[in-house]
Amino acid sequence: MQCRICSNQEKNTTYEAREMMLGIRDMHTYFKCGECGCLQIANVPENIQEYYPGDDYYSYDQIKTETGLKKMLITLRDRYAATGQGFIGKLLQMKMPHDKLPRLQQAGVSVQSRILDVGCGAGHLLHSLKECGFENTHGIDPFNAKKIEYANGLTIEQKSIHEVTEGGWDLIMMNHSFEHVLDQHETLTQIKKLLSPNGVCMIRIPTVSSWAWDHYGVNWVQLDAPRHLFLHSQESMQYLADKVGFELRDTIYDSFAFQYWGSEQYLKDIPLNDERSYAVNPDKSIFSDHQIQSYAIRSKALNAEQQGDQAAFYLHNKSA
Ligand SMILES: [Zn+2]
Repeated sequence: MQCRICSNQEKNTTYEAREMMLGIRDMHTYFKCGECGCLQIANVPENIQEYYPGDDYYSYDQIKTETGLKKMLITLRDRYAATGQGFIGKLLQMKMPHDKLPRLQQAGVSVQSRILDVGCGAGHLLHSLKECGFENTHGIDPFNAKKIEYANGLTIEQKSIHEVTEGGWDLIMMNHSFEHVLDQHETLTQIKKLLSPNGVCMIRIPTVSSWAWDHYGVNWVQLDAPRHLFLHSQESMQYLADKVGFELRDTIYDSFAFQYWGSEQYLKDIPLNDERSYAVNPDKSIFSDHQIQSYAIRSKALNAEQQGDQAAFYLHNKSA
């Protein structure tokens, strides 16, 4: 087996992982590269689409829009969360935080920034950005059933990054979609081509350079066989960035309690979408509220130690 990231064929380790989100429980072979440490699927199943069950898949939820005072408060909070600007928004973010938008601060965005979200599904994050004043936001996802046009003007097109011709983006981001993409080098190369000279590429993915992988192995919930084709290590992301001509400038770990409760469930043979799952029925789950809170606290500690099971990688042009 040859690593699709660094081409190494030596000292790779093989693993068998079960499909456990839907509970099909069929086995899929993965291998971990002996050189760059990237964990990857050996062969992509020919029927991979059947592992993305249409309407049930989490990306395609409907977006609900708030009104009145609540909408105003959310707008202030989200604008602060994304840009670091605004005192009231800061207080609101402390009180009821948006957990994803703060990752944009590291990319240095403003409300004028041109932002492209690749593999955005229904476009939740972009919708929040549009609602709080970001004018130039756009989404694409090749697996959406059709083009989505929201009342606030946000459009999500049904296309892949390779079909995008318009360049000059200030931020191109992939929020938990890059791990589903087989052509890793080509995707980053295309992103690089479409960025403005000072543009930033943000890749948020699960990472094998984590306590959860070390502790749970093939029962690690974010391995997510066979949908996740690549589980990068810090080293393999560094390798890929170099190869494509990016500088990997920052890595921010942003894992949460999911790494614990999801993996604990897999250890006990409880699929993510099962009736007994914390994701489906928190009250019928095997966890107490106290346990979940403790998992959240431990996740924060793991992030601080760069051991959380997911991270945001910030790639800049080498010349910039
Ligand atoms: Zn490798």
